[in-house]
Amino acid sequence: MSVQRYAVIGHPVAHSLSPRIHAAFARETGIALEYTAIDAAPEDFDAVLAGFAAEGGVGANITLPHKTRAAQICNYLSEAAQRAGAVNTLIRTATGWQGDNTDGVGLVRDLTERQGLDLRARRTLLIGAGGAARGVAPALLDAGIGDLYIVNRTPERADALADVLAQPGRVHPRYINDVGTLGNFDLVINATSAARSASFPSLPINLVAPRGAAVDLSYGEAAVPFLAWARSARAQNCIDGLGMLVEQAAESFQRWHRVRPETDAVYALLRDHDSLLVTAD
Ligand code: NDP
Repeated sequence: MSVQRYAVIGHPVAHSLSPRIHAAFARETGIALEYTAIDAAPEDFDAVLAGFAAEGGVGANITLPHKTRAAQICNYLSEAAQRAGAVNTLIRTATGWQGDNTDGVGLVRDLTERQGLDLRARRTLLIGAGGAARGVAPALLDAGIGDLYIVNRTPERADALADVLAQPGRVHPRYINDVGTLGNFDLVINATSAARSASFPSLPINLVAPRGAAVDLSYGEAAVPFLAWARSARAQNCIDGLGMLVEQAAESFQRWHRVRPETDAVYALLRDHDSLLVTAD
């Protein structure tokens, strides 16, 4: 039997840890597969994906900047992908691509099961309204957080995300420059790609409530500035996106292979090498 072909498609993508993660899952579960990283510029995405399918590709992870385009080319979207308007997992079917989004379930699984957080009723601030924010916001609401405030550099995108979430009594878009007037939060999530950007607004030190948690969806060097702020804000839990990365990968793996791999060993391995990591999927 020929080996099944999988890939992560992004731009840039050479940094991606997904090939290592899926190779480890394959070893652990005894499933023979090939998983590569494919670079595709935005204008080439459709052709690259078609070429991948023609060469026997049966599943793909989609990362920056293609998640929205991937949602548009699918002939079936899961509820999570529909609500996110973004796809990070493609599954080949007889009639085309089926799209799913495992970012949200991956984050919630990391926060609740690995980090041991009880998310219920947490007053939450989500900074960012890009693809990752769109993926995680519905899952956080489903996990039972309290009110969700969304701020973003481009306010229209925060408004649009709040509209999609369609819970006006619970979800509140606000101007990012007003973040100091919103009170404190039990959960503060950085879902921006701002990293060390000088244009990222400085966050007040009293933004995190006592015993609150601060989470950066990125990891490695990219998470350093936000997590440094989180520590100075005395967040009880300062968490980066490495666990989410591993969990969203495990969810993709399960959709492709109908087996959910054990994630702790891969997480520990990558955590050991954390100083080598520079960016996230
Ligand atoms: P997008 O490009 O879709 O969105 C980027 C977001 O960052 C937007 O909200 C954008 O605001 C904001 N932003 C960018 N630069 C700045 C800045 N200088 N100041 C303020 N805001 C800024 O990216 P994604 O949503 O896909 O990814 C966001 C982060 O999440 C990345 O770090 C990514 O690596 C990480 N991620 C981690 C995953 C994991 O598994 N751990 C999975 C997916 C993503 P605006 O709308 O104004 O442009």
